Amino acid sequence: MKFYSTNNKNLRINFEEAVFNSLPQDKGLYMPEYVPKLDPFFIKNIQNYSFQEIAFTIAKSFLQDDIPEQDLKKIINESVNFDAPVKFLSADTAVLELFHGPSYAFKDFGARFMSRIMGYFSKENDALLDVLVATSGDTGGAVALGFLGIAGTRVTILYPKGKVSKVQEEQLTTNGQNIRALEVEGTFDDCQALVKQAFNDPELQQKLRLTSANSINIARLIPQTFYYFWAYAQAKSQGIHEVVFTVPSGNFGNIGAGLLAYKMGLPVKHFVAGTNVNDTVPRFLTSGNYEPKSSTQTLSNAMDVGDPSNWVRILDLFDKNLDELKSIVTAYSYSDEQTKQAMDELYEKFNYIACPHTAIAYVASQDYKKDFPGEYASIFLSTAHACKFPDAIDEAVFSKIELPADAKNDQKKEKLATNLEVDYASFKSYLLS
Ligand SMILES: *Cc1c(COP(=O)(O)O)cnc(C)c1O
Repeated sequence: MKFYSTNNKNLRINFEEAVFNSLPQDKGLYMPEYVPKLDPFFIKNIQNYSFQEIAFTIAKSFLQDDIPEQDLKKIINESVNFDAPVKFLSADTAVLELFHGPSYAFKDFGARFMSRIMGYFSKENDALLDVLVATSGDTGGAVALGFLGIAGTRVTILYPKGKVSKVQEEQLTTNGQNIRALEVEGTFDDCQALVKQAFNDPELQQKLRLTSANSINIARLIPQTFYYFWAYAQAKSQGIHEVVFTVPSGNFGNIGAGLLAYKMGLPVKHFVAGTNVNDTVPRFLTSGNYEPKSSTQTLSNAMDVGDPSNWVRILDLFDKNLDELKSIVTAYSYSDEQTKQAMDELYEKFNYIACPHTAIAYVASQDYKKDFPGEYASIFLSTAHACKFPDAIDEAVFSKIELPADAKNDQKKEKLATNLEVDYASFKSYLLS
């Protein structure tokens, strides 16, 4: 399969190029030249397949011309090596837990698959692949743990000092091997600006084989479709046929993958996007005007995005047909106060401790149910383990969280981070040394 740019539909490049470029020169986003339709017989019987079998079937529908079957199977088995269980909280409300991977966030699905794809295509090439990533928390951990130990790659992560949580920092700084952490004396925006400048530096481009691992990479989008099919399979095995997915959204990559799954033939009744006060998409769906704004800091900080980078992909998927898009997606936005109430409600009603992003998905799923009642199961996506967000969660509740074993282990490891001032010359000499 070939890929085009949302800004140039005549472009046709292969998967390998799209993965390493990440962004087309014209600043659009890569999209598959067509949406592969899965065999209706497969979907009808999907409850008889394992998560890995489902993931392989999907990946093959995109990549059968680019990666031989046995190699693709190996990539899938290594990247989809943890579960994404659907847990029912009540008869009609369930949570799809996407935090059972190495960094306890859904970004593990994209990052693990992408790292193995990059490793696979790098084998014959001698130059070390230098992955640069700026993170406000979750992306860096997923990328670090995704690339950890992948031969031929080296990852440099920039994170703002004092602005990521303890568990997040441990995931960034306790790896060693091919992972390097830079603790930047500045903000996330400073980190992003340094990385951007490096990508635009002709000398670095010539001396290093640089690539970015950001969320718009097509190799992160494809694996995020896997768990929508797997969630549907789990619901179906419980006798449920109609599902509504609610997705906590920031850059809209996660829900974008869900909509791609829908276009591939996954039977979904509706998608609900939950955002914090960064409500560019909810406003767009109401007014039809896309008016991005600068982001506002909230409790659900992985969704503090004022101009969602994956939104053009969703528009492309729907040929900019706003009526069709609105017939399948509804969006709600919530304040921090409402987010806290939702966390409290989950805990009090179901004894469920959720991160603030997950809580927004929960309350959006309940509001949609009130607005559009019916005989369907509401499945809301839990995008991260609550232990990553201590500042957002009530202290007494947070103290009840059982830390995953790896997080306990990380606490015992030595912190390996290099301090960096917000100074491009120092960053550059670090990369070249
Ligand atoms: C990244 C992230 C999100 C937002 O996902 P998008 O694909 O950017 O919409 C939501 N929750 C958590 C915990 C995240 O890390």
